Formats: sequence, structure tokens, C-alpha cells
Amino acid sequence: MTIHTAEGFTFSVSEIKPCLADNMKVRIIAQFEADLTPILEILFLHFRNANYSRNLVCVTTKRAGHSTTVFGSGKVAMTYLKDEQEAIGQLVELAKTFSKAFIYLDTNGPAESDIVEKKESINALQIHKLLPQTDCGDCSESGCFAFATVLMNGEKDIDDCGPIKLRKNADKREALVKVIQPINLDFVREDRSDLAEFLGLKS
Ligand code: SF4
Repeated sequence: MTIHTAEGFTFSVSEIKPCLADNMKVRIIAQFEADLTPILEILFLHFRNANYSRNLVCVTTKRAGHSTTVFGSGKVAMTYLKDEQEAIGQLVELAKTFSKAFIYLDTNGPAESDIVEKKESINALQIHKLLPQTDCGDCSESGCFAFATVLMNGEKDIDDCGPIKLRKNADKREALVKVIQPINLDFVREDRSDLAEFLGLKS
């Protein structure tokens, strides 16, 4: 088994099998050598389309067409990949996100429980209320409610709705982002030379 390193993390791919829905694609299981439990809620608030399971201690999201589940134990399950090489590329990207999440945790502390609960309880009806509600079809959906559903599923992004980018809808867009992505790790600085030590991955 090949050991990979990225962003101070060590991981390996332990299982590769054909996808159940498409046997031309593969699903993988990987293991990161890190306790990811402290950052799970931060990841949940960062991923625009995510589910958080307290019972299973994991966050599931759709990223770049792949369903990805991150467990607190460091296990990662990923589906709908072309091959192992693509899996490793996705895992490296994931390691960058984990790194930023730990930096966020160190700087800001854990995710606030009321924000986590708010995102857990969001539904398509509430998202629909924050959309322009013109049913114009600019998003290639049949209307705003259909868009709210695919937005929740992670199949579309907020900015696939043209009208919401208009100045007059700025408040709606801001409210929508706050519900769907209350933490944006893209703005966390990446450079942290002591991260591996901080994570307890080296002395
Ligand atoms: S583009 Fe926006 S306003 Fe138009 S139907 Fe889609 S979600 Fe509604």
C-alpha cells in the first residue's frame, strides 16, 4: 500500500472497487493518519452541500461530481472516480481543506453549535424564500423551487442563479451564503509551516 503525504497529512488508499451505479467508475476507501473529529463541524459548515451525522461521526458532501464522506477517524470514502490516480488528486485537495479547517479551528475555535444546527435543519422551502422567486429559468431549472432543491443536493451553485447576483438581490445572496456556507475556508491562509506539529503528526 502506497503512503502519500499532502499538507502535513499522511494517507493511503486501502480499497478500490467498481462503483455500484456505474462499473466503469471506482469507489475508494482511504485512511488519513489524523483525528479529524475536531474539524468535522467546520467542514460541514464549509461544504455548501453537506450532511452531518453525529451518530456516524462523519460529514458527506458532493465535490466535483464525487460523493465524499469524511469520518472523524480519518477514514474517507469516495465514489464515482475514474481511477486511483484521480482519487489521489481528490484526496490531496481534501488534505488542503483539512489543513485550512485546522487553521480555522486554531484561530477561531470550534464551529458554533447554533450555526451547525441551523444548517442541519435547512430545507428547500427555506432556501426558496431566499431566492429571487422570478421563476425565470436562467439557471436551467423549471423554477426557483426546483433550483432550491438542486442547490441543496449540491448539483448547482448559488451563482448559477443569474438574478441573485444583481445588486438588488445582494441581501438575499448574503443570507443564502450564510445558511449554505457559513464558514468559507477558501479565505483561510494556506501557509502554516508548523501544521504537522500542531496536528501531532511529528514531534
Ligand atoms: S435563475 Fe434564479 S430566479 Fe431564475 S428560476 Fe433559477 S433560481 Fe429562480
